[in-house]
Amino acid sequence: MRFQELDISQLPRASKTSAWLNVGSRADGGNWRLPFLYVVGATPGSTLLVLGAVHGDEYEGVETIPEVFHRIAPEMLRGTLLMVPICNVPAYEAVLRSSPIDGLNLARVFPGHPNGTITQRIAYWITQKLIKPADFVIDLHSGGVTAEIPLLIGFTHSHDALGRRSRAGALAFGAPVVWEHPPPMPPGRSLSAATDLGVPAIYTEAAGGGYAYPADVSCFTAGVINVMKHLDMLDGHPEPQPITHHLSGDGDMDSVISTPAAGYFRSEVNLLDDVNTGQRLGTVRDPFGEVLAEITSESAGVVIMLRRVHRVHVGDNLAHVTRRLGG
Ligand SMILES: [Zn+2]
Repeated sequence: MRFQELDISQLPRASKTSAWLNVGSRADGGNWRLPFLYVVGATPGSTLLVLGAVHGDEYEGVETIPEVFHRIAPEMLRGTLLMVPICNVPAYEAVLRSSPIDGLNLARVFPGHPNGTITQRIAYWITQKLIKPADFVIDLHSGGVTAEIPLLIGFTHSHDALGRRSRAGALAFGAPVVWEHPPPMPPGRSLSAATDLGVPAIYTEAAGGGYAYPADVSCFTAGVINVMKHLDMLDGHPEPQPITHHLSGDGDMDSVISTPAAGYFRSEVNLLDDVNTGQRLGTVRDPFGEVLAEITSESAGVVIMLRRVHRVHVGDNLAHVTRRLGG
């Protein structure tokens, strides 16, 4: 099916289907197509959209979404569950965060463009056909190949009805780390497109590393089902796991501690460590072992991201520190 022909309101009630959505032509004469899984309940209710692999090197959503699909039958569902396990298919094929076709990061081009490059078209049709009719959006991310992030649920905590609904969904999801961000939300994300359309939205992070840890996939799977219960799409109450860290701060991973020197990065702290302002987080060394740069924290807080790949180029992101809520 061509993505632009998809009409969620016309999906047959009490159905469960997997399909391909053609989003643009390939140079080899074929089509770029997105995998699409949906379940329409026997009775009306909320519409939940779940996205995976918006970054092509993040695998937790790729594994979570078919698992959720397997567990949900139309007769137990109120409303509609829409899921795209691989959003940036060109990047996924190449094991890259961004698309090898146009170099674009899908999580920076929402709400996209209908006549743009392939990444912009993917963003556009996801926005128009899936985010717009949704009542809630979950975007499943992780650290990808180059970064390491704790298992967490994140959202922008605006103090309006939209922010409160996002926060309630995040707490229902139930990850050990909750990370809330003050508005405004940075542009270009699936979450910013959702916010602009008045749709509450949350996202996940996890260890990543080019590998989906079964415990992270289990948390994401339980989290999606918890949100479905929260939205009254399924019977029962959410069963979130206990929160170990409730954090607050800028979630924009484009503006974190980066390296002034190329070389070999060795971190000296662990994820979720408490650090002080000026504390050494690691070093960048040359091939002779000489320290080229000491990387220090610009603030006191909790380590929320660390670079995983040792080799670094100038300007590569190394670490991010955020605050404990109220701290
Ligand atoms: Zn991501």
